Amino acid sequence: MICDFYYSISLVTKFEIMLKQKINSQEAAAIKKYFDSCKNVVVTAHTSPDGDAIGSCLGLYEYLKRKGKNVTVIVPNYFPDFLHWMKDADKVVLFERQKTLSYNIINMADLICCLDFNEMSRIDELALPISKAKAKKILIDHHLNPNKSPFDFVISRPEASSTCELVFRVLDAIGGVDQLTFAGAEDLYAGMFTDTGGFSFNSNEPDVFVIISELLRKGIDKDLINRRINNNFSPDRLRLVGYVLYEKLQVFPDLHASFFTMTKEELAQFNYLKGDMEGIVNMPLQIKGHKLSISLREDTEKPVIRVSARSVDDLPCNEICAQFFNGGGHKNASGGTLECSMEEAIEITKKAFEAWREELIK
Ligand code: 5GP
Ligand code: MN
Repeated sequence: MICDFYYSISLVTKFEIMLKQKINSQEAAAIKKYFDSCKNVVVTAHTSPDGDAIGSCLGLYEYLKRKGKNVTVIVPNYFPDFLHWMKDADKVVLFERQKTLSYNIINMADLICCLDFNEMSRIDELALPISKAKAKKILIDHHLNPNKSPFDFVISRPEASSTCELVFRVLDAIGGVDQLTFAGAEDLYAGMFTDTGGFSFNSNEPDVFVIISELLRKGIDKDLINRRINNNFSPDRLRLVGYVLYEKLQVFPDLHASFFTMTKEELAQFNYLKGDMEGIVNMPLQIKGHKLSISLREDTEKPVIRVSARSVDDLPCNEICAQFFNGGGHKNASGGTLECSMEEAIEITKKAFEAWREELIK
């Protein structure tokens, strides 16, 4: 065969795929000492635990168990059904349902690992036994402005995609990735996936994908995990989404903002289970140019309104939540609580929109 042109390519491809160390050697040495010397460990995370909370707890649990430790995950309350596929999710102790057992386990512990929260108030009543416990307490978290005083040791990285990312980094820094089990890899992937909206925000750091490639090497099936998390709706939950978007969403087109309310009675119409509202607050951001979405939902147990806020780019919804909704959180995903009627909550939301008008109309 005659070729009338030739390729002469000297292609030298060099991939340097390495995780940048964000846990320094002193931190790694301190954590290693805690993990090596402990016997009875409690791992805990914030109230109404989400994928990152449960994923980081069970991921660390897998590692510590593999090291022969006696480990119990205790969380303040119920976590949603779409996380129950994780190995040993059924062994997680719910403090609100098993207080005596929780107290006993916490009193026996010599190490308490607190994950994915930045202050004791985020674990509600579980703060009391944990604060009083004689065990050493470490915090691994990615929320802004942690209150470090209740802890013996803190790893706080607000820039991290998720606490699961940080747990992986800690294991990497102490040479523990080999002892991370398949189930632990699934757990950590799930938390990174959920806390970044399926890698659609807070996940531009190339290291996120270096970590995922390591988790894939453990044999996880990320597509299956994505389906377990996302395609797990009841028919009621799907209709609830339809109802919120069709009947309840109030859009302020000039402000690129919207809010919706849901009362207990409305939730009951859809046989509401905790977790059913999860993610709906993200949906209005699919509107072209939208910047801010707020959900006002009556709590089914306490006489309060739970506020969830989502924003894009530089709009800091955590500041909005701090100013108007007694809350805070991440720049683009935050929340808070109001103790007032729904009518008053709507007025407060409208005031918040007005106060941030300049930023919203840009
Ligand atoms: P969600 O809208 O999913 O309930 O909460 C999103 C994020 O907002 C959470 O990860 C947490 O960081 C933050 N957040 C939610 N509720 C509160 C609150 O009452 N106080 C503070 N400081 N942060 C909150
Ligand atoms: Mn998180």
